[in-house]
Parts: sequence; structure tokens; C-alpha cells
Amino acid sequence: MKLPPFEYASPRTLQEATTLLSKHNGDARPIAGGQSLLPLMAFRLAAPSLLVDLANIPGLDRIEIRDDGVHVGALTRWCQIEADRRLTAAHPLLSEAVKHIAHYQIRNRGTIGGSLAHADPAAEMPALAITCGAEITIAGAKVSRVLAAKDFITGPLETALEPGEVITSIRFPKWRSHRRWAFQEFSKRRGDFALGGVALHFDEDAQGHASEVHIGVFGTGDTPGRLSAAEEFVRGKKVDAGLAQAAGNIARSAVRVASDMHAGAAYRQALIGTLIERALVEAASRAIEE
Ligand SMILES: Cc1cc2nc3c(=O)[nH]c(=O)nc-3n(C[C@H](O)[C@H](O)[C@H](O)COP(=O)(O)OP(=O)(O)OC[C@H]3O[C@@H](n4cnc5c(N)ncnc54)[C@H](O)[C@@H]3O)c2cc1C
Repeated sequence: MKLPPFEYASPRTLQEATTLLSKHNGDARPIAGGQSLLPLMAFRLAAPSLLVDLANIPGLDRIEIRDDGVHVGALTRWCQIEADRRLTAAHPLLSEAVKHIAHYQIRNRGTIGGSLAHADPAAEMPALAITCGAEITIAGAKVSRVLAAKDFITGPLETALEPGEVITSIRFPKWRSHRRWAFQEFSKRRGDFALGGVALHFDEDAQGHASEVHIGVFGTGDTPGRLSAAEEFVRGKKVDAGLAQAAGNIARSAVRVASDMHAGAAYRQALIGTLIERALVEAASRAIEE
């Protein structure tokens, strides 16, 4: 299907981009990899009069590992994250999750900032950002601000971005050594959006009891989010197969799910419980490098 008509701008600075966007009062949209926006336009679900291409603004596509965590520029493409070997130690959960996103061709164009701004409830990255306590840096024509990922995603395909604002980077807090983690999702075909998924990590004390338990789910309803009932159940306990099964059962009854054309609510509840159980077993049995 052909796209509706639009003007195109390719600014060379962030200031130019945010000024252009704010002048058009919400009728202009930034475009990064185009992997979500162009299909929306083709289906006439979006018809911006101006596309502001962020691709030629330098400095927005870097991955930096600093003392306070991993900083990922908003224009960083999935394939860059996937190929960055430093991340297997600096943030293995991020490195793993990206491999599950879409198909190679889409990972070659799609960006992390575009995924967060698009805020698809079935997408991996918004859920991962919430699970890991990531922070999102946003630039506007006049001011910049930083928002916690949990406050950034406000609804299905809805975020706290104001017209004229652009995501510039995402910070994933420093990954602790010896941290246990797992990522599990299920889709009908590899590369399709998942029917449900789980990202989790936890630390262990000297007795092997879990602390700092973060369990995030996606594909379940309007927004991704952490499952506090399952987190509380796991906290302070030693994670083994029996505990994982019990945590999965708690998740099944605690998770709020919606039915859609892809799967019914009961199926999704069962799926999330099973994925949490599997993820906990995987995290607990993973060999940790000393
Ligand atoms: C066949 C197919 C399968 C897919 N499967 C998956 C999947 O399994 N999991 C998944 O997560 N995604 C999937 N996607 C979607 C895609 O991977 C991401 O949504 C995409 O990578 C978003 O990034 P983008 O750079 O292409 O964003 P764009 O399409 O360029 O933009 C998306 C939205 O974000 C806005 N935007 C872009 N960059 C910024 C920025 N820096 N600041 C503010 N707003 C911005 C745009 O205005 C637009 O509203 C799939 C897409 C296709 C076509």
C-alpha cells in the first residue's frame, strides 16, 4: 500500500530536529528505522504531514559502558546491540533480549529509541527497560528531561513524550557481577511478535537466597510491567525447580491479561506462568563465572 503524502526533513542537529517537530504542533513525527512508523502510515493509522529523519544527527547511535551502567543512544539499531560483544558481560540480559526481536532484516534497521517511543505492549524492549529500571533521556526544543521507563510507557502505543520531544538515550543501570537472569518468550513463528514473554534477574546472598528480584512480563495487556506478587514470593528464598513452579502458579493467578485475535486470556495466563517457571529454572542453573 502506498504511503499518504508527507514532507521530509533531514536535520543535522538535535536542536534543529526538536525545533522542527515542535513548530508543527504534533503533526510532525520523528522517524528512525521506519520499521513501525512506515507500516502505520501504509495502513493509514498515522498520517503525519512532516517526517523528521533523525538518522543524520551525529552521536545518537553509540553504546557506552560507564560506571553507572550501559548508555545506549536512541538511534542504535538492534543489530549493533546484538553484535556488541562487550554487552555479554556488561548487560547479558539486554544482549539476549535483542536476539528475540523481529527478523534480521528488521533488526538491521529498527532502533531502540523507535521501539520505546512506539510502545507496543508486545514488544521486548519496553518490558526490558521497565524490568531493569532503565532511564530514558528526552530532549525537547527548550529543555531535556530524564524519565524512569515505568513512567515513560503510559498505555498501549502511548508514552509520556510531548509533541516536539525526542528520545536521545537509554541508561540501563550497572549490571552486578554474579547476577542471575533469563529471558523467555513464545511466538507462533520465530520473528513474530511474542504472545507473551518474561525478562527477569535477581541477585543471591551468601546463603544463595534471592534478593533484588525483578520479574517483568509483556504481551499480556495494555502495557508491560513487573509482576510484584511473583517477585515478593521469590525474594529471600533459594530458587530451585520447586520454587520456580510455585512462582509460576502465583504468576498465573496474579497476571492481568487480555484476549485478542492471537490468543485468549486463559491461554496467556498459563503461558506467563510457564515462562516464569522456565526462566527461574534457567537463571538458577546458569553457570556463573567467578
Ligand atoms: C514484520 C515485523 C515484525 C516485528 N517484530 C517485532 C518484534 O518481535 N518485537 C518488537 O519489539 N518489534 C517488532 N517489530 C517492530 C520494530 O522492530 C520496532 O518497533 C522498530 O524497531 C522501532 O524502531 P524504528 O527505529 O524502526 O522506529 P520508527 O518506525 O522509525 O518509529 C516508531 C515510532 O517511534 C517514533 N520515534 C522513533 N525514534 C524516536 C526517537 N528517538 N524519539 C522519539 N520518537 C521516536 C516515531 O515517530 C514513531 O512514532 C516488528 C516490525 C515488523 C515490520
